[in-house]
Formats: sequence, C-alpha cells, structure tokens
Amino acid sequence: MAAASPSELLSSVFGFDAFRPGQAEIVEAVTAGENTLAIMPTGGGKSLCFQLPALCRDGVTVVISPLIALMRDQVRALRAAGVAAGALTSGNTPEETDAVFEALDRGALKLLYMAPERLASGAAVNMLRRVGVTLIAVDEAHCVSQWGHDFRPDYLRIGELREALNAPLAAFTATADEETRAEIVNRLFDGIQPRTFLHGFDRPNIHLAFEAKNTPRTQILNFAAARKGRSGIVYCGTRAKTETLGQALREAGHSACHYHGGMDADDRRAVEHRFQTEDGLIVVATVAFGMGVDKPDIRWVAHADLPKSIESYYQEIGRAGRDGAPAETLTLYGPDDIRLRRTQIDEGLAPPERKVADHGRLNALLGLAESLGCRRKVLLAYFGDEAEPCGHCDLCERPPETFDGTTAVRKALSAMLRTGEYFGTGHLIEVLLGNETDKVRARNHDSLPTFGVGKEYGRKEWQAIFRQMMGHDLVRPDPERHGALRMTEPARPILRGEASITLRKDTIAKAKDRPRVRALVSEEDAPLLSALKAKRRALAEAAGVPAYVVFPDRTLIEMAQQRPATLDDMARINGIGATKLERYGATFLEVITGASEEMHPARRRLAGRESGDVFDRLQEIQLHLARGDDGAGKYLSCPHTTLRQIAERRPGSLDDMARIPGMGAQKVERFGPAFLAALENLS
Ligand code: ADP
Ligand code: ZN
Repeated sequence: MAAASPSELLSSVFGFDAFRPGQAEIVEAVTAGENTLAIMPTGGGKSLCFQLPALCRDGVTVVISPLIALMRDQVRALRAAGVAAGALTSGNTPEETDAVFEALDRGALKLLYMAPERLASGAAVNMLRRVGVTLIAVDEAHCVSQWGHDFRPDYLRIGELREALNAPLAAFTATADEETRAEIVNRLFDGIQPRTFLHGFDRPNIHLAFEAKNTPRTQILNFAAARKGRSGIVYCGTRAKTETLGQALREAGHSACHYHGGMDADDRRAVEHRFQTEDGLIVVATVAFGMGVDKPDIRWVAHADLPKSIESYYQEIGRAGRDGAPAETLTLYGPDDIRLRRTQIDEGLAPPERKVADHGRLNALLGLAESLGCRRKVLLAYFGDEAEPCGHCDLCERPPETFDGTTAVRKALSAMLRTGEYFGTGHLIEVLLGNETDKVRARNHDSLPTFGVGKEYGRKEWQAIFRQMMGHDLVRPDPERHGALRMTEPARPILRGEASITLRKDTIAKAKDRPRVRALVSEEDAPLLSALKAKRRALAEAAGVPAYVVFPDRTLIEMAQQRPATLDDMARINGIGATKLERYGATFLEVITGASEEMHPARRRLAGRESGDVFDRLQEIQLHLARGDDGAGKYLSCPHTTLRQIAERRPGSLDDMARIPGMGAQKVERFGPAFLAALENLS
C-alpha cells in the first residue's frame, strides 16, 4: 500500500487545504490503530476522521452507520474522489451487492459501509473476518445508548464484532453528555476507556483581530513592533513577499527570516531549527511553514494576506499559544485578496461541486472578516460550537460602527449592471463619483442615470463598500472577464429593495491608533518576568535546548504573578513537576526572592521607577543581540551604567545614542536600532 501522509491525502483526495479543529489529532490516533472515541459537533467533519485513516491503513475499514441515505451519499462522494468504497445496505440492488462482494474478494475495497442490521447474521461477521477488516468505524455511536431516543438494538452487536475481528474501533458521536459516553465505553469498548477526544474548539487565549488592508507593510511592521522580542509567524500569499517582508522586519531591528516551499530542504530545516530553539524569532512564511512546527510558545501569528478558507485560518492562527499563555493574531484582507482567492478557485482543476464548496468556505472566512459582532462566536458557530461574545477579540473590544448600506449597495449594483457587468471597481467608482475620465467618455458612461449618483462618499469609502460587497458575496469577479465584477443571486433582493444590508463604517484608515502592546503580565510583575526569562534563556543556552523546554512562558508568568517564596510554593505552580522542581526550583526561587537584593547597583537606582522597566527591556534586547542578529557575530555587551543612562535619557536618534558614554560605534550599530524601537514603544 502506498503510504502517503494524512495531510497529503487531505489535499490530494479530499481537496481540503487544512484540517478542521480536532481532526488532525483524531486522524493521527485512528491511523495509529488506537481505540478512540471522538465527540464532535454535527457538521464538524467526523467522516473525514475515519475515511482518511482508512486510506492510510492496510486492509478494509468497515463503517457502521445507522442511516442508509447518508451511507449512500458518502460512498458516492468517496467514489467521485477516486476512493474504492462500497455499501451493503437493504437499499442495494442485487447487482450493487454482487459488485461489492466481488471487490472485497479482489482485495480492492478500502471502505465498506454497512447497516447495523447486517451484524445480526453470523455470516456477516465471518465475511468481515475473511476479507481482512483492520479497522471498525462507528458513526453516530450514541445509537448504542438504550436511554437515548436514537437507540438501535443492532448497535449492541458491535462490541462482539470488535472482539471477533480483534481490530481497533473508532467511535464518533455529537452527543457529549457523560451518561451516553459511559454507555458507549461500556458497550463498544468493553468498559475500557478508549483514547477520547472531547474538546471544544475554542482557544480562549488567542486574541482574534482583522484589519482591512490599507498600508499592509506598515500594518504588519506595527503589529510586530508592538511585540518585539516575542516569537511570531507572518503568513504571506507569495514566496517573493516572504523575502521582502522578512527583509523589512530585519531592517526594523527584528530577528526575522523567511521560509517557503521553494527553498532548499537544508535551508528550510535550518529555519525550522532556529525557530524551535531561538526565543523571539519571527518567521515570514508561506503556508508551507507550520506542518512540522511544534513550538508551544509562539506568541503571535499575522496574516499579511487573506488565507484560503476558514479552515486554513483556524489552523494557522491555532499555531499560536499552544502553551495556553496569551497569544495574538492579526489578519489583513482586501479586495485584491478576495479576487485572488476567487480566481484560484475558479481556475483550479477541481470538479464543479467542489468549486462551489470552496467558494462557500471562502465566504465563511469573508463573513468572519466583515463580521459585525464577536469574531469568536462566528468562528465557533461555523464549526458547530455555540458561544457567547468572548470579550477578547477586536470587535468585542471595539464594536464597529455600522450604517444602513442598502442604498449604497443598490447604487453600486446598478452601476455594475448598467455598464454590462464588464468593469472592475476602479471604473465603477469613477462612474459613481461622476468623474469624466477618458474611459468614461469613451464608453459614454457619463450619460448613464447612475453617473455621479454616489457623490456622498469618497473614493476610499466606495472601495470599502465594494470590498464589503465582495465579502458578503454580493459580487464576484467573473473568471471569464478579467477583473470584471458580476452580481450574484444573493444580491438580487437588495437590488429590488426587498432586503437591506448593514455595513461597517470603518472605511477611513484607522492606522492612526498607536499599536497597543498587550502585556503578558501587569506592569508590576513585568520586571520579574523579564528576570525569570533571562534566567531561563541562560539555562536553555547552557543546555542547548529551546527555552520552553526549561519552562513554558505560562509557568514563568504564573511564577511572576504568584511569587512563590519557598520550594513548596514553587511546586504548586502549573508546569513544575518533581524533576523540574529539583533541577530548577532553587535557581528560579533565587531570582524571585533575591531579585531585589541581587539587583545590580545601576539597576537598583531605577527600582520602582518606570525607567526600571526600560532598563530591563534594554538588557533583554542586548542579551538577545549579544552575538548579532544571526547569533554568529562577535560578542558585545553594554555596561550596566550605560543601559541606565539610556533608560533615563531616552535618546531619540542613533546620534544621540552614540553620545552616551560606553556606546561605541559598534554597539550603536548592533543595538541602536532595537533600543530606539523599544524606547519608542515604551514611551
Ligand atoms: P459530521 O461531523 O456532521 O459528520 P461531515 O463529516 O459530514 O460532518 O462534514 C461536514 C462538512 O464539512 C462536509 O461538507 C465536509 O466535506 C466538510 N469538511 C470536513 N472536513 C473538512 C476540512 N478539513 N476542510 C474543509 N471542509 C471539511
Ligand atoms: Zn469576541
């Protein structure tokens, strides 16, 4: 059997670009042959969790499912995707049944769907044994519950089947209550707890935010500047962009590198290794980056371009904050992204039904981007989870101003229709604004009734209106006419005045706001946290391991907040087991309890003052750059008194910096830009 990896098959067979929440872990366990029980909301994507392992494993997977119509649908869809699947149900014609048996005998079937009634005959069990069933999947596993209203007596035979075949069993249900789960474990797994997957999809520590693209490079640079020194990923739509943006970030004083599928395997591995071990590196990457990345302390993820689908979005932001400590995300999107993603779908090779589904998944992401209320609520609802407004996304924090956009949208649609759906936003906006451009005159568009009807808005505002119309899927680029927009069905009721639409008013650049730095801990605990981090870095470097192997961020944050005074207190901090307590407890305790006494005299002079924090930040930066951006330079460091003076005097330029005693030219070159950036952010 060809052993392609699950993520390869995910895209080659199913045409999906990312796993949905929870799927990857379940697929891994089922493929590995573990007994599993997965609880996922309806629509969450359970079928993939046994279909994909079935393809990765040798032999036949038998799927027990209670609904004949559903089985037939799944078999049809699998066959259409080129998977050898068949069903044995009472709805079969004799020919269909013969064909299934024939394929089984040839060893040509990967998935066999079977109605539970079949299990009543001993012949079926013998047949399954004979054809080499190596995995049993049970859909709607709650049907074994005698107390539930979906009870199917034949499901009670599945336990025996598992024993007779001695094959692993994967059970799936959307019913999460404890009694039902216990009954499933008793009846299907003989009372032995299988590997169980029951998690909401929410990742509450991840802050969600979107921004319309207006000055994309600056938007990303600002976001990164506010998080300087923290590990992050910037996802870009193209390889070239990863390189230029990586360069821009380095010029802004960050430690950053790029990553894409076109690089040598060795170069890629080097970046992966650096990212894994270095604290505070930024990787600017295409989606090729992330598959093998298992770094728990990624503090932020930014999308410089809109992801492909809501699934990709969730997967990519989900790489942040695996350690549970606060993490932040920012996704930029604009009309060009939307056009690009639509065109990619339209021009792709997928069959028509899949294109429709792909447009749907893109729409879901755009709906999230243009959402008027809590993003987490919208995101989780898509995956079948219900939630209350989270209070921890950009829209909860700052609800958007909205306006009734019905009239504006009708004007825009009518401008499109009256120009034959032949033009893109640029020309349509000229028509709406009543500008007599050459193109307008050449086509006589100045004589249209819609000419100049949109003067109440400016160009930028019309751009935002068109972007939102694309986001609501009221208009789409026409794959046949380059760049031209076409009206979609959902726009018709608005055009006819039968429906209204609310739009967001965030049309004018809001980049004026200073980027807000979200601190990991309160101001009061920040100096201790940096001291703990510095200690951690020293220990990690000495041992040649990534920082989080010593302690994850989360543990240090808790330490800084709780301030354990004894080893006993220390043991109660999350993430400190017996071994770590013994290995590191005393060292970190010293940092906490001895922090004030052990301060360098230069630092002590600043204790309790704001400059103290600045001093700590400078010290952190200097430690980080001690061997230069790439860690290969000559070792340099500044005396404590020099750092103190920088913290107090806050030089505003590299020249001012060079006048501080102890800062030679080399040090100004090495540390100056990063120091300046830090001072700017702290002011
Ligand atoms: P349920 O959990 O209710 O059984 P399904 O398995 O029928 O859900 O999946 C629901 C829908 O989600 C299907 O249309 C399926 O094609 C789609 N889907 C499943 N997994 C993914 C994925 N990783 N990316 C995109 N779409 C997916
Ligand atoms: Zn929210």
